[in-house]
Amino acid sequence: MAFENLTERLSKALKNLTGRGKINEEDLQASLREIRLALLEADVSYSTVKKFIDQIRQKAKGTEILDGLNGAQQVIKVVNDELTALMGEEAVPLNKSEKIPTTIMMAGLQGAGKTTTIAKLAYKLKKEDNARPLLIAADVYRPAAIDQLEILGKDLGVPVFSQGTDVDPREIVKAGLQEAKANKNDYVLIDTAGRLQIDAELMAELKDIEQIAQPDEVLLTVDAMTGQNATETAQGFANELSLTGVVLTKLDGDTRGGAALSIRDVTGKPIKFVGQGEKPTDLDVFYPDRMASRILG
Ligand code: GDP
Repeated sequence: MAFENLTERLSKALKNLTGRGKINEEDLQASLREIRLALLEADVSYSTVKKFIDQIRQKAKGTEILDGLNGAQQVIKVVNDELTALMGEEAVPLNKSEKIPTTIMMAGLQGAGKTTTIAKLAYKLKKEDNARPLLIAADVYRPAAIDQLEILGKDLGVPVFSQGTDVDPREIVKAGLQEAKANKNDYVLIDTAGRLQIDAELMAELKDIEQIAQPDEVLLTVDAMTGQNATETAQGFANELSLTGVVLTKLDGDTRGGAALSIRDVTGKPIKFVGQGEKPTDLDVFYPDRMASRILG
């Protein structure tokens, strides 16, 4: 289960405090050291950990925590509040265009979960907004990606626009957008190509597609299982594209979960959704406060 280790270590660090009645500077420092190690081991990025610990130290100094009653409880509250703040405080909803269609471009490395997430989003929009999305298959380098999207679309009763693998993805996107206009689709979801790692050619293509589609959302799918790399990848894409948000996938897996804590801090982009399984229903809105509670156990 995600966060298992982190949760265990954090509660241990905090339990040591609660056993003590009043806490002094030394107790606090010992706990902060434990918390720091727990976060680093969970693959939270170094700069985020440093900032986080500094914040807590400062908050603890500014309150009556030390030598006061219920000092430990207050530390726990500060940790909880700071975890929530780190992840962005509030859930951030999908952008919506004033006139149809709202265009969502999906980007990410190969295997991160782009195609699966598009199906999940299409399902969600259809179910919750009664929307009529069109999916555009613009990942022409992995032939199976088009088939995969077509199968998912069929299962969900959502149309998929594709022109095979011989047409330039930029042209596919142009034609797909025209199709959406003609059919008055209210949402367009664009599946783009990924690579095993970020390269200049991929970025040039994605930037062109972004230019052509003028998307309301540029969502990056990031695989939570990739540890520190998840945050670095997010930063790499954020440098090149006008990302509006992140979908953190595979949070149902055995991930240490650090990306959930670092991404917002490092990239400035909000995590909007988390993927918690392979089925179309396995997509949840990301609530920083609930995630903080889950992490603290
Ligand atoms: P793409 O290359 O980015 O389009 O990635 P895919 O959508 O094809 O996903 C790659 C693999 O990850 C597939 O086997 C998906 O079923 C799986 N996957 C995607 N999202 C999740 C998730 O949230 N949880 C789990 N367990 N698997 C996922």
